[in-house]
Amino acid sequence: MLNLKKIKKLSDLDWKDEKVFLRLDLNVPIKNEKILDLSRIKAAIPSIEYLNSNGAQIIIGSHLGRPKNNKEYSLAPVAEALGGLLKKEIILIEDPVSDTAKFLLPSVKKNQIIMLENLRYIAGEKNNNSELSNSLSKYITSYVNDAFGVCHRVHSSVNDVPKKIKKKAVGLLIQKELQSLDYILSSEKKMLLALGGSKVSDKIALIEAFVDKIDTVIIGGAMAYPFLKAQGKEVGKSFLEKSCVNTAKKILERFKLRNKTIILPTDHKVVFELNKPEDIKTVSEIPSSKMAVDIGPLTSAAFKNELKNVEQVLWNGPFGMFETKEYSDGTINFAHDLSKSNVTSFVGGGDSSSAINKSGVAEHIFHVSTGGAAFLEYIEKKTLPGLEVLI
Ligand code: ADP
Ligand code: MG
Repeated sequence: MLNLKKIKKLSDLDWKDEKVFLRLDLNVPIKNEKILDLSRIKAAIPSIEYLNSNGAQIIIGSHLGRPKNNKEYSLAPVAEALGGLLKKEIILIEDPVSDTAKFLLPSVKKNQIIMLENLRYIAGEKNNNSELSNSLSKYITSYVNDAFGVCHRVHSSVNDVPKKIKKKAVGLLIQKELQSLDYILSSEKKMLLALGGSKVSDKIALIEAFVDKIDTVIIGGAMAYPFLKAQGKEVGKSFLEKSCVNTAKKILERFKLRNKTIILPTDHKVVFELNKPEDIKTVSEIPSSKMAVDIGPLTSAAFKNELKNVEQVLWNGPFGMFETKEYSDGTINFAHDLSKSNVTSFVGGGDSSSAINKSGVAEHIFHVSTGGAAFLEYIEKKTLPGLEVLI
């Protein structure tokens, strides 16, 4: 494996008069052109300010959503929000691979910043072709990646562009992500792994990655159902990733052999129909006709109790369908329990992070990762393709 310690930080390089392409992750949730969560925009500010105050001119690039054409998912609302927070004018360039940025750059004032439109408007962004690097090479001198959330991708703004540029570094956000993740990966402190969410197959690797380091795993959300099923329990109409039942069985056996514990829900909130939250009931066994949408209060209490026995917690995946208020207690209560306990907590995953932000306790959590899949992949592999190209 390559030595990621060789990657330069902003403070390692001189930025005076540099023209920097700054890859950010401004992929915020947007509905009807309204931004629902500003966290990623706020998280981008320290690197922008660092580069600006050290004499660099920056050109910001980011993706947003999965646009099918060049009209969907414009970065315009993002540019406006970022400009408001920075108290600067953001000049949004409609075609990210045109020469407009090159011509504008010499006349850009101190209170203005250039931003390219959604990088996924470029046909070759996802194919990692050289359209973007050919265009940028006409006017940039250096590259900074502060988009942790996309470092697992081999896309041109994360991979091809930095490959072709000598002067490159990670931004302050990635620096903090790596410091925090490396800390938890190398720490000898007693740790609890808390897992939930719905992308079960992606997460089983997380248990494997930590099996030697942890004594206890607590599992909620849809992640719990393959494990309950493996124990022969009824999961009714709950969301079940059937392909994971066998793996769940093996994990249960391995944990038992090693005298380690997996704590599964002992009560559940269930409904007949998802869109009838008013009919929600708490049960100890899931009836065959109903689906579980959240963990019950006994499970919440058992999860909370585990916090007394550990010094740190790694949490990925909500314990229920927290997007619906009636199904959010298990997730929000655990966020509050974490924030009030003495444990050092790390939360990662796109939905988990947004649940933490929703619960209003984010400032009491030691580290809330801005990466979803990137966070999981880094924990598993201790490297990411978007980082390796920065060495
Ligand atoms: P993250 O983005 O934090 O890694 P995931 O993407 O794996 O988490 O899972 C988040 C999703 O899991 C949420 O949309 C949530 O509604 C869903 N979820 C949680 N519990 C359940 C459940 N019991 N049944 C179905 N979906 C669930
Ligand atoms: Mg998710």
